[in-house]
Amino acid sequence: MSRFLKQPGSRVLSSTEDQSMFLIAADDPLVPDDVRLPDSLGGGIKRVRRGFVAPCPACGEEAFHLSLEGALNVAECLCKGFLWYRSITFSLTMPDRAEADPVERSET
Ligand SMILES: [Zn+2]
Repeated sequence: MSRFLKQPGSRVLSSTEDQSMFLIAADDPLVPDDVRLPDSLGGGIKRVRRGFVAPCPACGEEAFHLSLEGALNVAECLCKGFLWYRSITFSLTMPDRAEADPVERSET
């Protein structure tokens, strides 16, 4: 399978193998099947779970993000390029019902 390079904000992808071959994404934004991690993150291929639009972690502008396997995300920032970040998941615990109920007082 051929792999393509994408520049932030661009729909034109260039082939990593053939410099004269390009792919123009029909979907905007494009959600690829998988992405290659930069060497600084260890390289390798990560599957893409979904794409979503959210504020950019760097500049706050609305940006397109990809959610990858392994709680890794990448935001497509038009000024800073691709920003790789980890998402933090947390759970909220509800207090016990007994604790939430007001304490009964008997007034005599
Ligand atoms: Zn940004």
